[in-house]
Amino acid sequence: MPSNETTERIDRQLLQEVVERAGPLTADGEVADYIPALAEVARDRLALAVAPLAGRPESADPVLAVGAGDEAFSIQSISKIFTLTLAMQRNVGARLWDRVGREPSGDPFNSIVLLEREEGVPRNPFINAGAILVADVLAGAGDDPIGALVSLVSELAGADIAVDERVAASEAATGYRNRSLAYLMRSFGNLVGEVEHVLDIYFQQCSLSMTARQLARATRYLANDGIDPSTGRAVLDPLDARRINALMLMAGTYDAAGAFAYEIGIPCKSGVGGGIVGIVPDQVSICAWSPALDQTGNSLAGRAMLASLVSRSGLSVF
Ligand code: GLN
Repeated sequence: MPSNETTERIDRQLLQEVVERAGPLTADGEVADYIPALAEVARDRLALAVAPLAGRPESADPVLAVGAGDEAFSIQSISKIFTLTLAMQRNVGARLWDRVGREPSGDPFNSIVLLEREEGVPRNPFINAGAILVADVLAGAGDDPIGALVSLVSELAGADIAVDERVAASEAATGYRNRSLAYLMRSFGNLVGEVEHVLDIYFQQCSLSMTARQLARATRYLANDGIDPSTGRAVLDPLDARRINALMLMAGTYDAAGAFAYEIGIPCKSGVGGGIVGIVPDQVSICAWSPALDQTGNSLAGRAMLASLVSRSGLSVF
């Protein structure tokens, strides 16, 4: 278990100050509207949740959450952490890494440019093409990937988590870019399953609905050598947990990953629903949420809240 000197400095007052200071930033940026259902979310929402590994002795709830910390939002690409976890659990790692790279892309999350040049092999599992490929791997592993995903995140979050079918239908109706990525990978023979079935899995995983409190709790295993502190269960082996953190630092926020590492200094994974998860190994897992995005598709106020929290509490891994 971690030394809790740093995490003790994170109290409700600090979180509230960070959220209040980010308030004016919610006027900037744009709420994603290329998925019509996401455009309906109010842009003034702000949430910050911190989950220490050792829990909070004074409370039965291991997570400290402020602002709209109990309001559910669409987790979108944050789901890519959990599907990669499922793929690693199923021990498909060796096969997976023949078909997906482990390099930063330096391009937007939905970019197609490198995919043709690199013969249908996505740069990493966190850009859209890579996550669609992971969905293909899970579909090929034989079981029901969405059922497995829902039960994994529900166990980790300590709550019943579900797919928001309205968001999933909205994504499926407008997912032209993702279809292009998938068919291009199919044409190279890297994606092997039935394309529309694989896309269906991908659209559903992105449409999981969770709160910042639930996401902070559900990702603690990544800060804890793969072990979920709530249950003591080994979700991943320590090496795979470390590998996911490494990939998050390099590629979890797409073409802003370098700036995130420089400005914030912890592994992060974002989604276009405005959520960002941050992992501080051996200490805490964090989730910030605010719907309006910057030009790189990362939550503008969420990014500012993470930067401020990490600098004020000394949580950077560097
Ligand atoms: N579902 C979104 C998409 O495919 C996920 C992207 C994201 O959250 N960055 O475009």
